[in-house]
Amino acid sequence: MTGGVGPLATAGRELTGPETSLLARLEGILGGDGLRTGHLGRATYRRDASFLNADPLAVALPRTVEQTAQVLRACRDHGIPFTPRAAGTGLAGGATPTGEAGVRPVVVSVARMDRLRQLDVPNRRAWVEPGLVNARLGKAAATHGLRFAPDPASQIAATLGGNVATNAGGIHVLTYGVMSQHVLAVELMDADGVVHVLDGARAEQAGLDLRGVTVGGEGTLGIVVGACLRLLPSPPAVGTLLAGFPSLDAAAAAVGALVVSDRLPDAVELMDARAVSLVEGYAQAGYPQDAAAVLLLEYEGLPAGVDAGVVTADHLAREHGATSVVRADGPDQRARIWKGRKAVAGAIAKRAPDFYLQDVVVPRSRLGEMLDAVVAIGERERLEILTVVHAGDGNLHPFVLFDRREEGMIDRVFAAGHDIVATALSLDGTVTGEHGVGIEKRDFLGEVFDADDLAVQRAVRDAIEPSGLANPDKVLPTTVGCGEARMVPEGAWV
Ligand SMILES: Cc1cc2nc3c(=O)[nH]c(=O)nc-3n(C[C@H](O)[C@H](O)[C@H](O)COP(=O)(O)OP(=O)(O)OC[C@H]3O[C@@H](n4cnc5c(N)ncnc54)[C@H](O)[C@@H]3O)c2cc1C
Repeated sequence: MTGGVGPLATAGRELTGPETSLLARLEGILGGDGLRTGHLGRATYRRDASFLNADPLAVALPRTVEQTAQVLRACRDHGIPFTPRAAGTGLAGGATPTGEAGVRPVVVSVARMDRLRQLDVPNRRAWVEPGLVNARLGKAAATHGLRFAPDPASQIAATLGGNVATNAGGIHVLTYGVMSQHVLAVELMDADGVVHVLDGARAEQAGLDLRGVTVGGEGTLGIVVGACLRLLPSPPAVGTLLAGFPSLDAAAAAVGALVVSDRLPDAVELMDARAVSLVEGYAQAGYPQDAAAVLLLEYEGLPAGVDAGVVTADHLAREHGATSVVRADGPDQRARIWKGRKAVAGAIAKRAPDFYLQDVVVPRSRLGEMLDAVVAIGERERLEILTVVHAGDGNLHPFVLFDRREEGMIDRVFAAGHDIVATALSLDGTVTGEHGVGIEKRDFLGEVFDADDLAVQRAVRDAIEPSGLANPDKVLPTTVGCGEARMVPEGAWV
């Protein structure tokens, strides 16, 4: 049972002695401007982009690494946990300040530490502060003919520290890999406020890959206060295709053929008809409205290779029943096509007051089955679900549209979420592709790993973060056994 989750769980509670003393010390470190203790100030930090929320003791907004260290030392001295937070676009409740029953963590936001410390063009790398927004690094790199490859759909808001902490993915992970492949070094602050530089910015590193362990830690191993990231040359040519299919199955089969062809696309995105129609009214991306599914494909590289890829894709798409295949005629049309994909959440916001976004993975060969299952789950629960897929990776994002004010709605939404995850597991898939585990998927890890695996993971976490103060309650299941996994912790407020 997760303590402290819920709207009223801690409202109006008297502060304990250690809490009062900690707040006084934090104010001395951060000043009034860097500390939020009032109801409204805390309310904004109760949750991330998921529905899981809890009341923090306070919100610390340090501006420097030194201030962050002082905040963590103060928390340690008072035995109060902390929850790292950046932009709060996470979808698994990772930045929700839950803790042991009766203990409210301090949210430590790194959002004010947002400088691009160094753009090292000759060595194609960037040293960044954790609060730097992903798209800002991309923009800065582009002026030097470079790019930062990880491109989550949330990149205009999500931070690089958050991307490191969640091992974020994105549209181009199929050939470029997820965040971990682009992180050369992590500056990790432990609960004593000591910064450890893990790995380095050199090409090769001796010893255990502690950097790799840290990426994806979701704040449970400490606070990422800096990172060195790999930059790549911008591709000299890009070819973007939009293909419409008469059925989801046909589009899924085309994906299977494309990824085993001799011209692997750099991006393969699938959107179902509901997503296509919703986005078109919002972003005018030029998607075919008569299609049951569309594929967005991209090839990058030298012009001849790109052209060859486009020819292959055109051929394979039509062979699998595509009723239209269009190549973007220039940067404007390309931008429009991708804008549509990245605008799904915005388009939904105009249509429904709430959405719940799932994140599961299945082997590519099971994609068609999984897509059919999502449709069936939506029908069974009488819910409108639209699905977009990083199809090259088999990573599905069903969006459930709903209005939380409807009687019984929340139960149906989370029943659908639970069934989507359970179905992915039954198809030999897994519980998250990129959004992380947080608290939402925590109890499902017992179904992904056996007890020995989990014990090893716990031992590694405890070795790196022995205090147990860093983002407690997240990622690793506590007592829940196989078959008991819940979609949200009992008592969670939605
Ligand atoms: C519309 C939408 C689209 C999205 N698309 C994608 C996508 O394509 N790919 C993808 O991977 N994700 C996607 N996401 C999810 C989310 O954007 C990512 O998980 C992102 O990496 C979170 O970054 P953030 O700065 O918002 O972190 P937060 O939400 O603030 O935090 C996320 C987690 O990281 C921890 N954390 C944050 N900063 C630090 C730090 N400095 N040190 C240690 N721990 C830290 C937090 O404790 C929490 O556990 C999407 C979200 C939305 C709302």
